[in-house]
Amino acid sequence: MLMKVRIGLETHVQLNTKTKMFCSCPLPSIDAKPNTHVCDVCLGFPGTKPRLNKIVIDHAIRIALALNCEITNSMFFSRKSYFYPDMSKNYQITQYELPVGINGYVLLDKKKVRIKRIQLEEDPAKLLHEGGDIIKSRLTLIDYNRSGIPLVEIVTEPDLESPSQARDYLGKIKSILEHLGAYDESKGVIKTDANISLPDSERVEVKNITGLRGVERALSYESIRHKNLLTLGESVARETRHFNEKTGMTFSLRLKETETDYGYIFEPDLSWISITPEKVQALKKSMPELPDERIERFIRKSGLSRENAVTLVSDKALADFFEVCASLYKNIAKLANFTTTDLLKCLNYNNLRITDSKITPQGYVDLLESIDSGKITARMAKELIKEYVMTGTQPKELINKKSLKIIPESEVEKAVEKVIKKNKQAVLDYKHGSEKSINFLVGEVMKLTKGQARPEEVTKLIKKLV
Ligand code: ZN
Ligand code: MN
Repeated sequence: MLMKVRIGLETHVQLNTKTKMFCSCPLPSIDAKPNTHVCDVCLGFPGTKPRLNKIVIDHAIRIALALNCEITNSMFFSRKSYFYPDMSKNYQITQYELPVGINGYVLLDKKKVRIKRIQLEEDPAKLLHEGGDIIKSRLTLIDYNRSGIPLVEIVTEPDLESPSQARDYLGKIKSILEHLGAYDESKGVIKTDANISLPDSERVEVKNITGLRGVERALSYESIRHKNLLTLGESVARETRHFNEKTGMTFSLRLKETETDYGYIFEPDLSWISITPEKVQALKKSMPELPDERIERFIRKSGLSRENAVTLVSDKALADFFEVCASLYKNIAKLANFTTTDLLKCLNYNNLRITDSKITPQGYVDLLESIDSGKITARMAKELIKEYVMTGTQPKELINKKSLKIIPESEVEKAVEKVIKKNKQAVLDYKHGSEKSINFLVGEVMKLTKGQARPEEVTKLIKKLV
């Protein structure tokens, strides 16, 4: 029996603003001390009234346009009532009846993921559970810095068909919002509530998953759990679950409540907002280049492969870096290949974004030019980039410090002769057509020359000399 999962996501993205949504508190940096960016409004004191930060509306409309939504012509905010320690007012200001946008879509390759709604809402406070475990912790601390941070919530229809596709979708959303200037990864996280179900089975919601990889992991765990239950003839309970990042497992939090349980009411402290066609038109005109257009430009104008273009544009900062380098360096294909393989691998391995690393476009281009001019081998460059990313020491300096060089052909030839003499069997095997043996011989020469020869040159010489 083929069991195909259906996944729908509700994603909360922190909007890139200077101040909070309903007060003038500045947005806290990630390392801000707890409860230092607060006021009467975002602490929810009785008698205080919210004042809307209008920039969030422009952000939301641009996002809705980029995701092909119908834009509402008027809207208001609602109170979503619930009792929980992260919400001192006992209600969250959000949107319910009239969100900013509805009925949009985003394309993943050829797959169309329908967007049900896009709405604005405030972030609740942050709960810090002792020991980090929501279930076992003895006490919980509250940090109100996060309370009142503007969020956009993007809700899909249950169109996603696998955990990895869910991650791809989030990657696309992230890149679109970065290009719009609506989201800055260094300031805020992306948090997702994910719904997952198998055919003819109950739907489970996993709440509050951080990041892109987290969503893929949580959903992989859930889809296996559901399949196992159904295979054993048991049923899946309709419930809300929590994902533990450390263990990679999910736990039951509570049986699922329905939307009506929240008792939405109109927020009387904020007025109706009308969105005129002129305003939408003006925002449409001010839209920057979006990821899909940028990918096409990279392919058309710079001749990149689609794969390279997609990889670069999936991270706006990396694509920006690439474009600066491309203005300094002629071999665009080589630049794209090195960036999407060696540089990216190195950044991912160290969990760094290009903007956090100390590399500069000029230094990076210098490194590539040292290969072109025959100063170092591509293999050496692959080693140098690791050190460059970590320390920021310029490649030119690294090359001098390590006295890296390529030795002249006559010396390579001597090394090849030595290796041939020493490895008679391998030479014989090669003559009988063994590819493995020539790779082995090349490896021996590289060892003997301490990596200071070009493997292509070594291969040629071996073929000539045996
Ligand atoms: Zn405040
Ligand atoms: Mn929400």
